[in-house]
Amino acid sequence: MANPSLLILAGDGIGPEVMDEVKRIIGWFGDKRDLTFDVSEDLVGGAAYDAHGVPLHDDTMAKAQDVDAVLLGAVGGPKYDDLDFSVKPERGLLRLRKEMDLFANLRPAQCFDALADFSSLKKELIAGLDIMIVRELTSGVYFGEPRGIHIENNMRVGINTQRYTEAEIERAARAAFELAKKRGNKVCSMEKANVMESGILWRDVVNEVHQADYADVELSHMYADNGAMQLVRAPKQFDVILTDNLFGDILSDCAAMLTGSLGMLPSASLGLPMANGRPKAMYEPVHGSAPDITGQAKANPIACILSFAMALRYSFDQGAEADRLEAAIEKVLADGARTADLMGPEGGTPLSTSEMGDVILAALDASL
Ligand code: NAD
Repeated sequence: MANPSLLILAGDGIGPEVMDEVKRIIGWFGDKRDLTFDVSEDLVGGAAYDAHGVPLHDDTMAKAQDVDAVLLGAVGGPKYDDLDFSVKPERGLLRLRKEMDLFANLRPAQCFDALADFSSLKKELIAGLDIMIVRELTSGVYFGEPRGIHIENNMRVGINTQRYTEAEIERAARAAFELAKKRGNKVCSMEKANVMESGILWRDVVNEVHQADYADVELSHMYADNGAMQLVRAPKQFDVILTDNLFGDILSDCAAMLTGSLGMLPSASLGLPMANGRPKAMYEPVHGSAPDITGQAKANPIACILSFAMALRYSFDQGAEADRLEAAIEKVLADGARTADLMGPEGGTPLSTSEMGDVILAALDASL
């Protein structure tokens, strides 16, 4: 069988720096685990704009459609802040999500024990935390029509429309139930059915999908505002949280910060299955291009490496190898390995980006 294919789009700022470490990890799996990927690389964001005058070239888009999974670093930076909206670096990212129809955004919030002190919550509330937020990514209020700023009765009126079809809700719900079956078998769906018709439909459709095909998964519903409170009150009550684009944007950032540094947070965006059964997929760290530390070897590569672990699990059915990689990261953190963003008040000498890669590779070797 052909090797699985990966397109790496490292992007801007610290994107290429953290991606260099991911490339070493990918190489390790080829050398030591007989898990070889056909890797190609291309430009996105400001780097693509510099080369082609657009944040994503059509050829790159075509390559992204063709591979088994895309790994993305980060896009953006001050150099591009004054560009026209249509060619801003972020437009490259949005085009990938839209044209690949990546409707399910998976954001894990997982607390490594060694970093439990980094949370703004009490250690006992978050030690061992492992939740997954499934956010609908391609519809809802960020895309609904009508939208715009109009003049009505000599006054400006801003309009956005929350709109969901039952098909859009159904496929997001299925993604959440499928994930729950591989985890703690619990889904909590969050909307505002008390004040929004789209929320009533959301709840109805989630119930219908549940009754039809996932009755063995524990399902609960929560109003999204209560969900936000529960996330900071008792986050360990959750396994998979299913929610829409707007609430998911807010709730996933809230959940992410429970665990400390931006440099630790991976994500996956999944679409429909391709002909080979694998979902359309893009994996990327949650953080941006961090211009304040670019070129200083200070970036934490773990978020990007954990994104590759998600690719192993969700695109390539290599759950055991994903576990191996996550365990190696857990081990180096427990041993005290820290990049600058993870330094506590006790101080010490932080590892550089590539030194963090070195210790993770050593831990992978030790796992054999
Ligand atoms: P950012 O995530 O780039 O940085 C926020 C802070 O976190 C900075 O202090 C940064 O140094 C730190 N940080 C982020 N990632 C880190 C890592 N791996 N290791 C250590 N420290 C890390 O967000 P920002 O400063 O608001 O945005 C900078 C640029 O990135 C902007 O152009 C923005 O538009 C873009 N951005 C891109 C994405 C993306 O590509 N998905 C996401 C967010 C922001």
